[in-house]
Amino acid sequence: MAITDVSDLRCVHCNGATLAVTPIADSDRMIKHGAIICQSCFSATDIIYDVPFLGGYDGQDFIGLIEVVATAEMNIGGISTETARLLHQLLKEYHEAPDKAHWIENHPNEMVRASWFSYRYHDFIQSHSILINENLSGKKILNVGAGTGADSVPLLDAGAQVTCIDYSPTLVGNGAKNLPNARWFGGFAHVLPFQDESFDVVSANAALHHFRSVPEALREMLRVLRPGGFLFTTGDPFRPDLSDDNLEFAVFNRHEAVLSGVNEGIFKFGDLWDTLREFQQYIDIAFLVDVANVGELEGTSGIGAEVFNDCWVPCWDQNIEVLRRSSGSIGCVVKKKAHIDIPAATQGPFVLPAGILASWLTNQDEAFSRLMGWAVPELIDLPFPGTQQSWFELLNGWMAPEEPFTSRTGFKRARWLLRTGSAKAIEFDIRTVVIGEREMDVLIDGKPISRSLISGETSRLRVELPESQSQNPRLFELRFTDQSDHPNGFDGNCFEVFNRVLSD
Ligand SMILES: [Zn+2]
Repeated sequence: MAITDVSDLRCVHCNGATLAVTPIADSDRMIKHGAIICQSCFSATDIIYDVPFLGGYDGQDFIGLIEVVATAEMNIGGISTETARLLHQLLKEYHEAPDKAHWIENHPNEMVRASWFSYRYHDFIQSHSILINENLSGKKILNVGAGTGADSVPLLDAGAQVTCIDYSPTLVGNGAKNLPNARWFGGFAHVLPFQDESFDVVSANAALHHFRSVPEALREMLRVLRPGGFLFTTGDPFRPDLSDDNLEFAVFNRHEAVLSGVNEGIFKFGDLWDTLREFQQYIDIAFLVDVANVGELEGTSGIGAEVFNDCWVPCWDQNIEVLRRSSGSIGCVVKKKAHIDIPAATQGPFVLPAGILASWLTNQDEAFSRLMGWAVPELIDLPFPGTQQSWFELLNGWMAPEEPFTSRTGFKRARWLLRTGSAKAIEFDIRTVVIGEREMDVLIDGKPISRSLISGETSRLRVELPESQSQNPRLFELRFTDQSDHPNGFDGNCFEVFNRVLSD
């Protein structure tokens, strides 16, 4: 991809509006460090797999980077433009089918019977009812948290000029390959690398709940939107304002993607509403929600989806109070009526440049080990089995501890980050959760150290530590040798660990 149009970009450090793409002699290199330079502050950013990456990772991104590395490991290549187009067509046909059950049963394409088809339909009806009366032809659209771009295909097909941005170098690299008709950037929702009022439409599909800060992302999305344009979000779960992380941990306890490292969250209704309300005089807001207590809302209008409750909800005080104590799925449309003075977000110097992270991703095991070298001290030596769940443990494969707190259950693979001091070995008791033998590997700092057969009977494993001169914490990974799904389902993919000690 030739990076021709940088006219609407800005520097995420100094907010300067002049960026220069420097000629790179060695054009075969996948990562071109420092290839884009701000003409005001001379900070440099990378071009990774032909995609300019504007911005870098800081300490608050650590948990999210587990996902970046894990999804590179899962080799999620995204779907082709043709498949995305076909899926969109199928969803449209399903939406229009007079007898939905009959349509599903008799359709020749297997995709319509996949378990995820109804989730995709939920996202579809939200964006369908938002966009139904919009003419997108020639519109300049920014898709934030674009992933590999599948949701941008219908926008491109409607004649829009689409710009995609995501914070994972793997996703944007694959996206640029799958969807070359869109313009691709690596970067962050909380510090968008675009000048004020650059887009007619800003969208985020099933993306807000992956962002590290919904309020910061919304402010940036509003900033880059031109007056007269609109921003829309779809497909996000939300929870009551008075709930805490324990509700999220309960929802995700047996969630295979999250246990495998996909960094999802459930934001509070107030994260959305309280941020938008600040700009109330400049915007019109409409929510599209699917909640169980829909009867408590006033003035709603359904969108004709038989399978879901989705309805438009006017932002009346009474409705806002109901939504503050509800949970469900939410989409929103925000029309920007006038210019809003929103200072552009900026970043300090990078702790971890995106090009460095991308260079690790060729070896996933080592990438995790290197990433853990970047962990904040609070994440090292967490008590095991512990009495509380944490995001770090959840994304690293550990389910919440349960009373009497003597063991912890891992899903497929699970990790510890420990200082080993003068210890010579690590020992623990382990068993499979479902009766039957399975082979288990133990890796230390990304290198396989031992392989054993474990069963439903508890057995003691002792793993000798390789010598290390470094005082750095070490990353332990317990992993079923065969990572494919077990015939016994979720529990068949789990193992239980007790009595972990570092020993001489
Ligand atoms: Zn600058």
